[in-house]
Amino acid sequence: MKRSKKKQFHEFMSGKGLKSTRQRDVVLDCFLASDRHMSTEELYMKVRAKNPTIGYATVYRTLKLFAESGIAREIHFGDGQTRYEHVAEGEHHDHLVCTRCGSVQEFENETIERLQQEIADQFGFQVETHKLELYGICAKCRQ
Ligand SMILES: [Zn+2]
Ligand SMILES: [Zn+2]
Ligand SMILES: [Zn+2]
Repeated sequence: MKRSKKKQFHEFMSGKGLKSTRQRDVVLDCFLASDRHMSTEELYMKVRAKNPTIGYATVYRTLKLFAESGIAREIHFGDGQTRYEHVAEGEHHDHLVCTRCGSVQEFENETIERLQQEIADQFGFQVETHKLELYGICAKCRQ
């Protein structure tokens, strides 16, 4: 059975000897309830609406901890903003990024994944992770 992300994060925190504070839990709830690709600012706005005593620095640091614990990963779409998305254990997808409106579409394609593996094999290369981002203009912006 898969651990919940909440549980995964709490286990990570206690493994590090850190306490899961009430504030961190609010950030976690907001994060898990949010869109898949969020910048620190976007998450901060949501957190603040729920609990105005939580500062930007707390949100920032907590997101770093999410990434360290494996429940989130940092993504960079070339606009200088760090975004975070939640990832399930063992889950993988790639991205289509609109350069006009900034929208992000996720996709998964078995053929592409397999081809990447074949290329790596040809070079005797062991892939640990990969990112594939296609940049262009989304269907909405093209109308
Ligand atoms: Zn992929
Ligand atoms: Zn667009
Ligand atoms: Zn994604």
